[in-house]
Amino acid sequence: MPVIVQKYGGTSVGDTGRIKNVARRICATQDEGYQVVAVVSAMGDATDELLRMAHEISAEPPERELDVLLSNGERISVALLAMAIHEMGHRAVSLSGRQAGIQTNTVFTKARITGVETGRLREELDNGKIVLVAGFQGVSVDEDITTLGRGGSDTTAVAIAAALGAEECEIYTDVDGVYTADPRVVGLARKLDTVSYQEMLEMAATGAEVLMLRSVEYAQKYKVTLHVRSSFTDEAGTWIREEDESMEKAVVSAVSHTTDESKLTLLRLPDRPGVAATVFGDLAEAGVNVDMIIQNVSEQGTTDISFTVVQADLPAAQQALDRITDELGVAYIIGEQMGKVSIIGAGMKSYPGVAAKMFKTLADASINIEMISTSSIKVSCVIERDQVEKAVRALHEAFNLG
Ligand code: ADP
Ligand code: ASP
Ligand code: MG
Repeated sequence: MPVIVQKYGGTSVGDTGRIKNVARRICATQDEGYQVVAVVSAMGDATDELLRMAHEISAEPPERELDVLLSNGERISVALLAMAIHEMGHRAVSLSGRQAGIQTNTVFTKARITGVETGRLREELDNGKIVLVAGFQGVSVDEDITTLGRGGSDTTAVAIAAALGAEECEIYTDVDGVYTADPRVVGLARKLDTVSYQEMLEMAATGAEVLMLRSVEYAQKYKVTLHVRSSFTDEAGTWIREEDESMEKAVVSAVSHTTDESKLTLLRLPDRPGVAATVFGDLAEAGVNVDMIIQNVSEQGTTDISFTVVQADLPAAQQALDRITDELGVAYIIGEQMGKVSIIGAGMKSYPGVAAKMFKTLADASINIEMISTSSIKVSCVIERDQVEKAVRALHEAFNLG
């Protein structure tokens, strides 16, 4: 019997009525002749609620304990879903990440999956049961509970699909597919039928939260086709797979954005070998994830370097920079309220003038560009945070994506 892996996001299991709706879908899939594994997220904003309580008690809760706490959100969902399926006369078993064989490294709150031990999953499936797996969690080599980072249930689902050799992984969410821009920001955004892994990687990396970046990396590596769709309708959604001849290679296929960046600029750094290595080495050691980096031309033996970090990393970045700038006898400035807007398209590679059109569009909207970075299929601009939504709408229109 073929195996299918489905993932249901928080909104899809937001209350008991919706849990029953998901249960019906899963039972129907089994009745069609599939062995079904369903990976489930915490109900609604349960994860945010748990985080809120943790921070009411401690400004910096121990990360090990945070993971123990947060893993409970998805355990509640799978248990309730199992009960709903039993009520419908089907047999189901709910499993924690650990019971489902999800092994991870030891990095609390953003652990990486290192392997999936499929023994229990296969045994339950071969016994005719529907298997419900708590998403977003695993167990480390030290036998501790870990979580995979926000949106991590996507990655649980893809990892299980890869390990079981499932042909497809269905991602059920609160939109009916991947759109040309976040439909919450652009009312005229259009649903895409297919998206290549490469484009989806760039979209996820630049803020399209519909799929966690790591889940797309995993899907590409293990060639798992993803189908992003709505749990509230039966319409086909968006297929994410290897690029092939049948796919339309739009010059620009989507606009994505983030609103949580900060920009730091080191002023008049000595322009000699090893300075950048020291600065970014220290930042890496402090666990700061640096995104975009720009070094200016050197003038009189000194140079400025600007870079961006997500706002959550700003305190750690400042601590590291305070040390570094003291040592080097230089200063730095902070632009806290920044965001980023990006255009993505597989056809961009062989089409000149795309970046120029993006810059002109932003200029016409009186939006100042602070930093620019490109890849072969993406152009990103860092801009003021309060201009981000306006920029997304202007670019969506300029590139005729609606
Ligand atoms: P889930 O809880 O199901 O994992 P998420 O909130 O993580 O759902 O992701 C779905 C949300 O992603 C949508 O509600 C939408 O606002 C947002 N989103 C951002 N960019 C896009 C895009 N390009 N296409 C579709 N949704 C997007
Ligand atoms: N519940 C977790 C979160 O809110 C994981 C997930 O939903 O994928 O980030
Ligand atoms: Mg998500």
